[in-house]
Amino acid sequence: MASRVAGPEIERPGLGPRSARRAALHLIRKREELLGPLADAMRVANERILVCSACGNIDTSDPCTICRDPRRDAGVIVVVETVADLWALERASALSARYHVLGGVLSPLDGVGPKDLNIEGLLARLGEGGVREIVLAVNATVDGQTTAHYITDVVRPFAVKVTRLAHGVPVGGELDYLDEGTLTAAMRSRTDF
Ligand SMILES: [Zn+2]
Repeated sequence: MASRVAGPEIERPGLGPRSARRAALHLIRKREELLGPLADAMRVANERILVCSACGNIDTSDPCTICRDPRRDAGVIVVVETVADLWALERASALSARYHVLGGVLSPLDGVGPKDLNIEGLLARLGEGGVREIVLAVNATVDGQTTAHYITDVVRPFAVKVTRLAHGVPVGGELDYLDEGTLTAAMRSRTDF
C-alpha cells in the first residue's frame, strides 16, 4: 500500500478524477449515508487546510505529514513545481524522500522571477544542513529547464549533489517519433550506462 501523503481530512474523500462522475452519481443516490458525511469531511478540510512552512505542501498539519515522517530520507529533497506534481510522484512511489514545492517556474515572459518562487525557503533548508542531494523534478518545458539551471547555480555554495529526472524517452518509444525538445532533454539528462 502506498504511504499516506496527507492527513485524514484530505485522504478521506479519496476520489480519483477517472471515477469522479460515477462516484458523483453514487453519492447522489445515497445522499443520506454518503453525501452528507462527505460534505462534512470537505467542510473540515476547508477549515483546516494549511501550507507546510517547510516544504510548501498542502496538508492539515504544519509541518506536513511528509515532513514529519521519520521513515523518509531527510537527506534528499525532491524539488517540484506544484503540489499536484508532488502528489503525482507520491502516487508513483518514486522516492521516499522529502519535497520542496516551488509554486511555479521561472518565466521571464510572464514576469515570474526568483522572488516569486519558494527558492529562499529551499536555500534556508540547505543552510540547516543534512541534505546530500536535490532532485530537480521539474517539467521538461523551456521554463522548467530554465528553473532547473537557476536552482543548480544558486545551490552550488551548499555543495549538495544535484540530479534531475531522466526525461522523455518512453519505454518502447522510437526516437524518430519524439519531438526535438523531448530528445534534447533526454540527451542532456543521459546517465551512465
Ligand atoms: Zn512539508
